Amino acid sequence: MAQEDIFKKIIAHSKEYGFIFQSSEIYDGLSAVYDYGQYGAELKNNIKKYWWDSMVKLHENIVGIDSAIFMHPTVWKASGHVGAFNDPLIDNKDSKKRYRADVLIEEYMAKIEAKIQKEVDKAASKYGDSFDEEQFKSTNQRVLENVQKYNEVKNRFVKALENDDLADLKAIIEEAEIVCPISGSKNWTDVRQFNLMFETQLGSVSEDASSIYLRPETAQGIFVNYLNVQKTGRMKIPFGIAQIGKAFRNEIVARQFIFRMREFEQMEMQFFVRPGEEMKWFEEWKAIRLKWHHAMGFDTNKYRYHDHDKLAHYANAATDIEFEFPFGFKELEGIHSRTDFDLSQHQEYCGKKIQYFDPELNKNYVPYVVETSVGLDRTFLAILSTSYTEETVEQENGKTDERVVLKIPAFLAPVKVAILPLLKKDGLPEKAREILNDLKFDMNCIYEEKDSIGKRYRRQDAIGTPFCVTIDHDSLESNTVTLRDRDTMEQQRIPIEKLKEIVNDKISYANIFKKIC
Ligand code: ATP
Repeated sequence: MAQEDIFKKIIAHSKEYGFIFQSSEIYDGLSAVYDYGQYGAELKNNIKKYWWDSMVKLHENIVGIDSAIFMHPTVWKASGHVGAFNDPLIDNKDSKKRYRADVLIEEYMAKIEAKIQKEVDKAASKYGDSFDEEQFKSTNQRVLENVQKYNEVKNRFVKALENDDLADLKAIIEEAEIVCPISGSKNWTDVRQFNLMFETQLGSVSEDASSIYLRPETAQGIFVNYLNVQKTGRMKIPFGIAQIGKAFRNEIVARQFIFRMREFEQMEMQFFVRPGEEMKWFEEWKAIRLKWHHAMGFDTNKYRYHDHDKLAHYANAATDIEFEFPFGFKELEGIHSRTDFDLSQHQEYCGKKIQYFDPELNKNYVPYVVETSVGLDRTFLAILSTSYTEETVEQENGKTDERVVLKIPAFLAPVKVAILPLLKKDGLPEKAREILNDLKFDMNCIYEEKDSIGKRYRRQDAIGTPFCVTIDHDSLESNTVTLRDRDTMEQQRIPIEKLKEIVNDKISYANIFKKIC
């Protein structure tokens, strides 16, 4: 099935099973804003716990805060967002659709890369073990032409971004003959800058009200609290401050479901280090963060680093961790070496010293910062889209059946155990509720007694519940139940007294954390 079709199915599935709804759907929805339903909210909370604990519990020198969304307007002048938090936009005059000029060019470059890869794959399967990729790439005419084309566009693109040369961005689009995917035409407007921050008014009387912004990143809430946390927590460099919270961006193009939203959540950690040591920490955090993603257990080939071609005004190094979503490799997390830019800017704008006295060096300095910033919603989408599986299942009567199962890592699954009495009578519900009352303090459980057991299993597969416990007549006598595994569908008879231990072992965060420590 085409990736596009699978993606549509994932979107439909997440609505049908209470993971994600369009915001204000009864009023036809609000573009690029989504609500998380009953299972979505559980999954989201579990991802947050995984991230928060991996930062704050596993590192003695990292603490977490929760700063306000509204901040003093000068914060955004100091950070550079008022002047420079722009995206270059371009409209197609025929379809009237709006695009990010940089994204159009990046997609064009990705197509050239895909062509090169296709040639390499073709030759690799033709020559088998004797294939030498490097030699092939340096001699094959078609590959060489495409590499040259790629490099020319890339160099010019990076320069145009660095110089804010909007006319050249348009020229690249025209010369590459990029067409609008809707109208198919090359009838483009000029490229313009567009500031992504939402502005609103603070104050009840309009004359007194002042303009403030909804924060476009959570990081600044950490920077303005640097001194508070460092002093009250008696933190010694190197140390980190972590935060999870909402951010808002008036994105020009908001497609691809929860990948690009106008209201979203970030999980950010700013790590304060000695000047000159930032590159060592940058490399360290790159590795730690990739390990965190890998520990969820998906195919590691779905993750890759991508170094930035153009650095943001505050950074001296930047890498993305990209993930292979159903629509290709895209940014999941950004790791940035932000230098002392933010703290120095705030120091200048507020007129107060924001420094650290380093007792070992016996001097004061403005700390350097390495940031890790991962989108909570993008992590959710990565998990949901990779977990979504359609399977054909052999039945006992020799027929086949289809099932949709979300193979969400057990420790993150919204519901851990479904408790299912086989019948609604003969004391089975009472026994089932006894088990529920024992488990519910440790894990999220569902109790269900309606419909056939087969139907109930399918419903649990569809929301990703790793375990189903079935209570039958034998359970009353032998104090045993059937435990069904979501992925293998294997069933085993186990004593009720062992149930909690078996399930707890599979859903434990600690077992995952041990892999990344
Ligand atoms: P992109 O290039 O995709 O616009 P970005 O480089 O602007 O992203 P950052 O400013 O580095 O993103 O933000 C850190 C993380 O926040 C991103 O890696 C992403 O996971 C998440 N994020 C950023 N913008 C959005 C958005 N509009 N919707 C959902 N998540 C987002």
